[in-house]
Amino acid sequence: MTAIEVRGLRKSYGQVEAVRGIDLFVAAGEVFALLGPNGAGKTTTIEVLEGFRRRDAGDVSVLGFDPARQAGPMRERIGIVLQSTGISPYLTVRETVAMFAGYYPHPRDVDEVVRLVGLDEQQDRRIGKLSGGQRRRVDLAVALAGDPELLFLDEPTTGFDPSARRQAWELVRSLAGLGKTVVLTTHYMDEAQALADRVAVISGGRIVAHGTPATLGARDAATSSVHFSLPDGAELPDRFGGRRTSGRYELETSEPTRLLHELTTWALSADIELAALEVIRPSLEDVYLALTGEAEAA
Ligand code: ATP
Repeated sequence: MTAIEVRGLRKSYGQVEAVRGIDLFVAAGEVFALLGPNGAGKTTTIEVLEGFRRRDAGDVSVLGFDPARQAGPMRERIGIVLQSTGISPYLTVRETVAMFAGYYPHPRDVDEVVRLVGLDEQQDRRIGKLSGGQRRRVDLAVALAGDPELLFLDEPTTGFDPSARRQAWELVRSLAGLGKTVVLTTHYMDEAQALADRVAVISGGRIVAHGTPATLGARDAATSSVHFSLPDGAELPDRFGGRRTSGRYELETSEPTRLLHELTTWALSADIELAALEVIRPSLEDVYLALTGEAEAA
């Protein structure tokens, strides 16, 4: 089952080519993250999918609808959390959710939505009296009011404190548990790693990599590196190569098991302790920085 299919999407603003031929596929029930630096084209892509922007070229299907021609019926089945929304500060949480639920043909139960976003205790409080994190939960509640099959979350945790972020992550996971498809944009690699089934990295209007967070992280297996220190006076044999920075050795390898075996065999025979020995795999963040750096250089 496909939730979103995009082929050859292009969009320019005058001379600025914001999106230069993007292909995307999101399966129903998947949490999909779009990662990329400022100005990469994430918001433009999402806005085309939501039916807020016209594309210049390409085929787009969202829940089987073309957002350029069928935005009305499509929006009855999607939920959108924008970076800022125009919600009245004078209505209470419950009134706000009830009002938005009224716009949809098959809304979700208002109490259930309020509970789902963890605002039961604040349900009679006016929006203007909520904290920033609580406001963001209201935004999410509004997006859930119509019981959407597909949710778009634009930078859902920007500005959150660490505990609010974790709570928001739990919430996204519970949405996934309800079988919803979630498309989110984020600048936080740990967020993509924690939440997404699949990730696409976008840079300069193009997708420069996609896959599961684990496969993206493993993309550069050759850059796994082994770090350790040697006691004063001990020298690493030349055959290991590598480099030494501030007393620590760094050896790069595509075969960490073999390297560790050779290294520890040498160290044991020489009766040397490899202090603070670590094998470091590139994180999604390293891969992201390498990919977006390569794309910018190109
Ligand atoms: P951010 O992470 O900063 O939100 P983004 O990946 O969402 O960035 P977009 O907002 O899609 O990026 O912008 C892509 C490019 O298009 C940028 O160069 C931006 O300056 C340009 N752009 C976006 N909106 C407009 C607009 N309405 N008019 C002209 N140029 C625009």
